[in-house]
Amino acid sequence: MNIFEEVESQVRSYSRSFPTVFTTAKNARLQSRDGQSYIDFLAGAGTLNYGHNNDHFKQPLLDYIESDGITHGLDMYTGAKEDFLNAFNDIVMGPRDMDYKVQFTGPTGTNAVEVALKIARKAKGRTGIVSFTNGYHGCTLGSQAVTGNKGQRSGAVVSLPDVTRIPYDEYGDENDDFMGLKLLDQMLSDPGSGVEVPAGVIVETVQGEGGLNAARMIWLQQLESLCRKHDMLLIIDDIQAGCGRTGTFFSFEPAGIKPDIVTLSKSLSGYGLPFAITLLRPELDNWEPAEHNGTFRGNNLAFITARVALEKYWQDDAFSNEINEKAKVLETRFQRIIDRMDVPLTLKGRGMMRGISTPDGDIATAICKHAFANGLIVETSGSWGEVVKCLCPLTIPMDDLKQGLDILEDAFEQVLN
Ligand code: PMP
Repeated sequence: MNIFEEVESQVRSYSRSFPTVFTTAKNARLQSRDGQSYIDFLAGAGTLNYGHNNDHFKQPLLDYIESDGITHGLDMYTGAKEDFLNAFNDIVMGPRDMDYKVQFTGPTGTNAVEVALKIARKAKGRTGIVSFTNGYHGCTLGSQAVTGNKGQRSGAVVSLPDVTRIPYDEYGDENDDFMGLKLLDQMLSDPGSGVEVPAGVIVETVQGEGGLNAARMIWLQQLESLCRKHDMLLIIDDIQAGCGRTGTFFSFEPAGIKPDIVTLSKSLSGYGLPFAITLLRPELDNWEPAEHNGTFRGNNLAFITARVALEKYWQDDAFSNEINEKAKVLETRFQRIIDRMDVPLTLKGRGMMRGISTPDGDIATAICKHAFANGLIVETSGSWGEVVKCLCPLTIPMDDLKQGLDILEDAFEQVLN
């Protein structure tokens, strides 16, 4: 049996893209059972911003286990939870003058989105939510309802109610007229439109699954103003773009906006452990006991590694500077690839959430396959899978980054020229 047949006979979900069995990994490199080494431009779909098996996390985790630290505490207050919350307050929220309550939501990003939607609806006493074309927010009914891509939504079978989708700021034209936001403003301002004011608006600053569409800061600022004007809550889904991916801890920091609700997951634990939180302005904390349950809210092992991530990487600007330096390398090299190829390609994304849009999904898939054959793990994104998407660990050594980019450039060359 080949690897595909072997895996397909055993499990429902399997990866067709990377036909090998991976065994060990360190920072941005994975080893397969057959002794191959791969550079990782996927990083657990953005879960491993600090790399695989980062030594900073290992020892504290081992020490905690050795000391018989609580591994599961439900809502009980544990030392690990207290230490995480203190670090989150002191290192993340305090210096940014942020005042949010932390809701532990359940293990995955989807759970954090569900919390955000539930809180917004309860706080405003309205059911509607505005979301954007190409947005991706998760795999349960509520989070799928606000997801744009029809393919990703089709599992829900029926169209889910009370979500208005408007165009995202994906065109990037300095002179455009904010079409989607203007239309929404008109509809909400006109009593004749029949459009009820929604409870909130959910948005990614860079659409990770939707093709690395990066919103302009001015568009995010206008979106915030629209929310204030019509009394809608602004929910930033920072599950993929947050935790440093775009250069700052929160992706919306350069816009200077103050969301009402923020979701975080993926790289929050720092070590690939399941962990998600929703931040809410304190006055939105209006839940009665048992209105939001979930056995696995707040993973104590993740509290340990999440605290370490904050202490090791976010005490000062050094890590941001490192990310920005690598982001510049990515941008320059991607631009070079675009300039060198004969077909029209577009640079996508922001920071270290970068990619290249190709004419179609078949081309992007062929490029990723080529790259894999030469030792690089890289995936596609976008409505048609047309974007070759780079999401390498932020801690990737410069040599690995450059080597990975060499492999990628060669793959573009082989497929396109
Ligand atoms: N929101 C965004 C922006 C995401 O990228 C994802 C995952 N790709 C989710 C929500 C859902 O997170 P999870 O898969 O952990 O449930």
